Amino acid sequence: MKAVQYREIGKGPEVVEIDVPQPGPGQIRLKVTAAGLCHSDWFVMDLPEDQYTYGLPLTLGHEGAGVVDKLGEGVEGIEVGEAYAIYGPWGCGQCHACSQGRENYCPYAADLGITPPGLGAPGAMAEYVIVDDRRHLVPLGGLDPVEVVSLTDAGLTPYHAITSAQHKLYPGSTAVVIGVGGLGHVGIQIIRAISAATVIAVDISEDKLALATDVGAHHTVVSGPDAADRIRELTGGLGAQTVFDFAGVQPTVDLSKAVVAIDGFVHIVGIGGGVMSAGFFQTPMGAAVRAPYWGSRSELIEVLDLARVGAVGVHVERYGIDGAVEAYERLHHGEVQGRAVVVP
Ligand code: NAD
Ligand code: ZN
Repeated sequence: MKAVQYREIGKGPEVVEIDVPQPGPGQIRLKVTAAGLCHSDWFVMDLPEDQYTYGLPLTLGHEGAGVVDKLGEGVEGIEVGEAYAIYGPWGCGQCHACSQGRENYCPYAADLGITPPGLGAPGAMAEYVIVDDRRHLVPLGGLDPVEVVSLTDAGLTPYHAITSAQHKLYPGSTAVVIGVGGLGHVGIQIIRAISAATVIAVDISEDKLALATDVGAHHTVVSGPDAADRIRELTGGLGAQTVFDFAGVQPTVDLSKAVVAIDGFVHIVGIGGGVMSAGFFQTPMGAAVRAPYWGSRSELIEVLDLARVGAVGVHVERYGIDGAVEAYERLHHGEVQGRAVVVP
């Protein structure tokens, strides 16, 4: 089968021919119907050799959907031909966090060598993918896999961040969304769907700001030295009760700190390496800072239900598997509008 793999440090993704994998006991093989490209794939592929821990070759793709094609020994309660989205942050399945469906916060996964598909385990950017357990599948129930596959990360991650700040998203409050890429453009829609907060979108690119307006942002601000003043002005000097930073680089983390309101909530979601000092005389009184990771299984069900009622949709750029390398290049250069999705 064809697969998109990262094979050599510093060399970027390649389309290669590999054997079709066989499902072991308890595992499920999906025929992939769609796989999304995430900027985290570049975070991984940009790591120097001494910091790279994901194994080589690595089949990419941590946003995946497919149709059940073969069941491993002992798998019950699931049928060949059914369509699913893959819940990616795999945990041990036994601990307190996993029992709540919050496998994204399993404290044992790393020690047990359990890794998400595409971020250690072979991912979905291939014709077939192995899913280790039935609980990591969420039924699509008629949703178009190409349209919704990216909700498994570009939807789930902002949903998890935003809903955990829901008490700050009250009518009259302001939410700042920094970075209107794959995650950010869905994040704006989620805030609009679950709250009456005013949304200010920030990006370096005018095209992304146009997309922000299309998906529901009330105001747009060009990222840069004047952004903080502009946001203060738009909020009557108060700042924003919630800030969601989907870039996470030092300039955007600095901006987040500069615009968060008293008792506000900053979520650094982007893995750009930016850091913020928090404490008295550093951040406003009562302000909280968090670096959330991915989301829970039930939150994935909720995001898919938001798509089902038409409240959230992904702006999709479609590619065949042979177009994946080009799609990754576009993502690297900030040229993708919304999310690039590979349809094998
Ligand atoms: P993307 O490339 O689709 O979007 C990033 C956006 O940020 C782009 O629109 C870009 O123009 C904008 N941007 C870059 N620098 C900026 C700046 N200085 N000011 C304002 N905007 C700026 O990326 P994505 O796939 O949406 O991922 C976003 C980030 O989130 C990445 O760092 C990714 O690794 C991370 N991520 C984190 C999690 C998590 O669980 N915390 C999950 C998925 C992705
Ligand atoms: Zn991701």
